[in-house]
Amino acid sequence: MEKDVIIIGGGAAGLFCAIEAGRRGRRVLVLEHAGQVGKKIAISGGGRCNFTNLHTSAANFISTNPHFAKSALARYTPADFVALVERHGIAYHEKKLGQLFCDGSSRQIINLLLAECGDAQVEIRCGCRVRRVERSDKFRVETEQGIFTSASLVVATGGLSIPQLGATDFGYQLARQFGLRIEQTRPALVPLTLLADTQVRLSGLSGVSLDALASCGGASFRENILVTHRGLSGPAILQVSSYWQRGEVVNLDLLPGADALSLLLEQRNSESELASVLARHMPRRFASAWCKLYVPSVPLRQLTEREIAALAERLQRWQITPAGTEGFKKAEVTAGGVATSELSSRTMEATRVPGLYFIGEVVDVTGQLGGYNFQWAWASGYAAGQFA
Ligand SMILES: Cc1cc2nc3c(=O)[nH]c(=O)nc-3n(C[C@H](O)[C@H](O)[C@H](O)COP(=O)(O)OP(=O)(O)OC[C@H]3O[C@@H](n4cnc5c(N)ncnc54)[C@H](O)[C@@H]3O)c2cc1C
Repeated sequence: MEKDVIIIGGGAAGLFCAIEAGRRGRRVLVLEHAGQVGKKIAISGGGRCNFTNLHTSAANFISTNPHFAKSALARYTPADFVALVERHGIAYHEKKLGQLFCDGSSRQIINLLLAECGDAQVEIRCGCRVRRVERSDKFRVETEQGIFTSASLVVATGGLSIPQLGATDFGYQLARQFGLRIEQTRPALVPLTLLADTQVRLSGLSGVSLDALASCGGASFRENILVTHRGLSGPAILQVSSYWQRGEVVNLDLLPGADALSLLLEQRNSESELASVLARHMPRRFASAWCKLYVPSVPLRQLTEREIAALAERLQRWQITPAGTEGFKKAEVTAGGVATSELSSRTMEATRVPGLYFIGEVVDVTGQLGGYNFQWAWASGYAAGQFA
């Protein structure tokens, strides 16, 4: 069974690439081992798919080569995808910070992709496991449903997160088979865990989310954080988790945008305890539990200036050393992947293996939280779809 382009993986990037290649008149086959395509799209964005971010730039991605994503992102922009969404009559809204979500369901995005695949005469085979790939003058893909050959092979198998949805390391294995380098993979956009004794110590704080500035590895994000019974979560923590390395400290500013020292010094002669003062700036339960950990239960005026300065410092640089992450089971994405130094940033083709392309999350390009990962899937799929 002869095709022009075989795409392994029927997720966001694979389907988008299929549409573009099909539009060029290429005979395209998508091989998906799960029972249906786009399972991650279905659960994305809490079921509403945060399908792009209006402010996307290369700065929103983590990669060994921070410039790699620029070319593809410039050639297929958030506005291009929004135009497609509008053509399909899908209602959407900006939730915050440029993040666009469907008003209805993520299923609408899957239907859009399937309709476009239909128009572009793309063949999709689900429940089709690939056994082996070989290359002579063409790629020969041996599957449970037969042997297929093609001049171009696009690997769009995604990352390792959420294995129960069909994630595999197949894409990395294939890259290795063809001698391509892999940047170490690790869970990203993932809750962080704490050592058991820290969990116990912080248990009074658990379940309350608050606005904070979380910083780690040179990156800072101001959003909510949440102490859970196992560790730290919430959008700001998920964001910094992508930059966190084992052993590193995460800094939390619990009074972002404020000057804690002046704020406390203004109350220097107060009969109030610190917890009451802080409760004006953060949830009362968090303020009380945090103060129980670090402050004697006395009016502020009984604290020395040095003690107040130390508390102000701790409020703005509360340091926590995570024990680890919740791993791929809970990670939204996989950082690392097929080394960008092996790929052309214009076409996504492996420079040493003509005809072999890698797109989407399997590549060492990882977006921050907020619709960037799908924008990368569309943009890299679009880039490869023009050449495969
Ligand atoms: C819970 C959750 C919510 C998310 N929400 C958002 C969001 O709102 N916005 C956002 O931008 N990003 C979000 N993401 C991230 C986003 O889903 C991924 O970055 C994106 O789907 C990557 O696209 P992809 O096509 O590279 O990989 P995937 O979409 O993961 O597709 C890969 C496909 O390949 C298939 N496959 C794997 N191995 C094989 C094999 N051996 N043979 C055949 N097929 C194979 C898989 O079954 C899958 O269908 C979320 C992720 C998760 C886990």
